[in-house]
Amino acid sequence: MSPQAPADASPRPAPREESAPRVVSILGATGSVGRSTIDVLRAHKGRFAVSAVAGGSDAAGLARAALETGARLAAIADPSAYRALREALAGTGVEAAAGPEAVIEAALRPADLVVAAIVGAAGVAPTHAALAAGRSVALANKESLVCAGAAVMRAAAASGARVLPMDSEHNALFQALGEADPARVEKLVITASGGPFRTWSAERIATATRAEALAHPNWAMGPKITIDSATMMNKGLELIEAHHLFGLGADRLDVLVHPQSVVHGLVMFTDGMSVAGLAHPDMRVPIAHCLGWPHRLATPARRLDLAELGALTFERPDIGRFPALGLAVEALREGGAAATVLNAANEVAVAAFLDGRIAFSDIARLVALAREAMARERLAEPATVAEALAINDAARQTSDAILAGSFRSGILS
Ligand code: NAD
Ligand code: MG
Repeated sequence: MSPQAPADASPRPAPREESAPRVVSILGATGSVGRSTIDVLRAHKGRFAVSAVAGGSDAAGLARAALETGARLAAIADPSAYRALREALAGTGVEAAAGPEAVIEAALRPADLVVAAIVGAAGVAPTHAALAAGRSVALANKESLVCAGAAVMRAAAASGARVLPMDSEHNALFQALGEADPARVEKLVITASGGPFRTWSAERIATATRAEALAHPNWAMGPKITIDSATMMNKGLELIEAHHLFGLGADRLDVLVHPQSVVHGLVMFTDGMSVAGLAHPDMRVPIAHCLGWPHRLATPARRLDLAELGALTFERPDIGRFPALGLAVEALREGGAAATVLNAANEVAVAAFLDGRIAFSDIARLVALAREAMARERLAEPATVAEALAINDAARQTSDAILAGSFRSGILS
């Protein structure tokens, strides 16, 4: 055979760099992902302009984010924080607004890209609003897909808006997939660090303290996702997130425990080749990828030296010690409203654990009980965001009622 190159093998011209600054809005600007986003933007001044920033209740942090980025609007969800925000921004020319509608308004301000980095189901409505209005979204807020994935992805498809995965595993999958059609892929694998309790016995995990659960070995993140990493619910939520982002069912999605958190995602193609995305665990890498896409932005993230690392290790997840992961896989397989209920119950459980009201092992127990209670209703997959949020509210109430009722917390034993 002659080694002649096929006619279409000439290198494609690189996409042209834009000259006008790309306009970005940041929802969840005061949080861990929001702050890292601002770091990356600051390192590329001139290439970006910030339109709006939004946050939950930290008025001082939000005012600072607005002033640092030159945003025109700062929207805070908690109305009782409005006064402090307005005072912090007095005389600066930045508009201050409050309430959940103001956060939606921030999501709808003209922008080329909306960074969705609110934590929890509170992010569903703003993320959906941005996508429905045709704004591309860099998605960190996985709970919006777990709660209302079908409705959110449908809104993006209808408006033509892009969802760029910012969660590190999904970002790695997105990069490894390239132009490939996910439907032609055999399997997508996401990795998990295993969290602080990877090597702990079930008995020791059961009574882990708040401080122990918050001590993540590889990532510095907000409290909710840090607890989700310790229970491994985070990986379960990410399987459901991957299902919505890439359209594959549970049987073609997998989790591997990988304590070094260097390989983030692995695409296994039907011909036996696998392509993986590797980087040191640093959210600035996937954040920069989304902000610059389809161009690359330089970041100061630590460079990989595989020889120095020496070995990368992998294990199968242990659902016996991490039942939350099993519950999420079950919800993904079941379909209907199972994931919406799982997510809501988990949010209630994590908040109760962080408040010292329940033990670590109670998190998965409460989620299982809430799922059991709600399963009797055989709810269909929510077709709209309004339906998803109604199920979310009902599941939160059910979880609260279980906690207030016969639930015997392990913390008492
Ligand atoms: P965080 O707790 O540090 O920040 C959460 C942000 O959401 C804050 O800005 C907070 O003010 C805002 N917020 C809370 N309630 C709100 C409301 N009702 N309306 C508007 N804003 C509200 O959390 P984080 O670690 O930055 O995580 C944010 C999201 O990104 C989560 O969904 C998480 O799972 C996901 N994520 C985080 C990381 C990470 O490294 N931190 C990595 C991947 C994915
Ligand atoms: Mg992740």
